[in-house]
Amino acid sequence: MIEMSDPFEHTREMFHMPQGVIYLNGNSLGPLPQRAPAAMTRVARDEWGEMLITGWNKAGWMAQPVAVGDRLGRLIGAEPGHVVLGETLSIKVYQALAAALELRPERRVILSDTGNFPSDVYMAEGLIRSLDRGHELRVVAPEDVESAITDEVAVVMLTDVDYRSARRHNMWAITAKAHAAGALTIWDLAHSAGAVDVHLASAKADFAVGCTYKYLNGGPGAPAFIYVAPRHIAEVSPALSGWLGHADPFAFDPSYRAGTGIERMRVGTPPILALAALEAALDIWEDVDMQALYSASTRLSQAFIKGIEAACPDLTLASPREPELRGSHVSFEFEHGYGAMQACIAEGVIGDFRAPDIMRFGITPLYLNDDDIARAVEIIARVINEGLWDRPEYKTRAKVT
Ligand SMILES: *Cc1c(COP(=O)(O)O)cnc(C)c1O
Repeated sequence: MIEMSDPFEHTREMFHMPQGVIYLNGNSLGPLPQRAPAAMTRVARDEWGEMLITGWNKAGWMAQPVAVGDRLGRLIGAEPGHVVLGETLSIKVYQALAAALELRPERRVILSDTGNFPSDVYMAEGLIRSLDRGHELRVVAPEDVESAITDEVAVVMLTDVDYRSARRHNMWAITAKAHAAGALTIWDLAHSAGAVDVHLASAKADFAVGCTYKYLNGGPGAPAFIYVAPRHIAEVSPALSGWLGHADPFAFDPSYRAGTGIERMRVGTPPILALAALEAALDIWEDVDMQALYSASTRLSQAFIKGIEAACPDLTLASPREPELRGSHVSFEFEHGYGAMQACIAEGVIGDFRAPDIMRFGITPLYLNDDDIARAVEIIARVINEGLWDRPEYKTRAKVT
């Protein structure tokens, strides 16, 4: 066998990892970039502390949501100037959906799939109720999405990589099909951004949204992002018409006028301390080639699947076997999945559990290598095969799983 050198050896040291932990949960909350605490301290002490209110101009705080949007936009194949940061992902889903529906006023159907994340669906339900114009949320199986795109559909709203199974949609094919039927697309990139190579512009996506605390390592509660295709932005009339999306916030006009370009998707005051942490994370991403990252993720994922399947016959692969149909996490079904994951965590392998019986493992090459995967397989196999999951302390469920 040829020893392949790890193309991400240099990024491994850029993260803080507690002693003895193999972290297979970067798809829920990425680990701390080593330089994030100092970056946050610097902004707090030198900018907030010394500049006070003048920081909005002097330190460039007000321009940060779009500037950071451009840094992130490169990782998802967006045109410069078409991504902005702010609020949380649920809010960005609402904004994108409201905008898309307004661009297709004569149509009433929002098409989604059963693999979508609950919050996305809940936001759609709430928006439909507020609009009160007879919109219908039509939810089909992921494999039926393409055939369900009819000329009734206003917008196809999907999460690119399924949060449970990691099944990945074909963004090109679905977007093309949607456009041919006169519909728009919204892609939720929560499990794609920083995980797989995404090409929003070349796939002709209309809208995209995502969070930055998962694969992008921006920290708990880090701001979300929204992308609007250049061909639509001038037509978008923001439903969440907050003052920072106004053309001239400090004119304090009595009524709203949408800002120029992607600025209009801003809502309120940006989270400057959180953006400082996110920028420290994006420094690490600066030299990362997404294609190389995805290849490394595929290689590690294949090794992980192979190892688990050989060692743990009681676990059933719940992710597509073909790497090209998968995002960057791997899931297994196990009847006693909750207890098993608690036992894995106690043994130093952190993944997560998704009801009803999914053990989910994020594969993140920036700080995981072949040795970690091999050790994780050993530990998981011990938990499963020696029945460590059956201990009484793993029977009660915590609030966050
Ligand atoms: C993680 C995730 C969310 C979470 O939304 P927040 O508003 O950031 O809490 C929403 N949608 C998808 C698809 C997710 O994976």
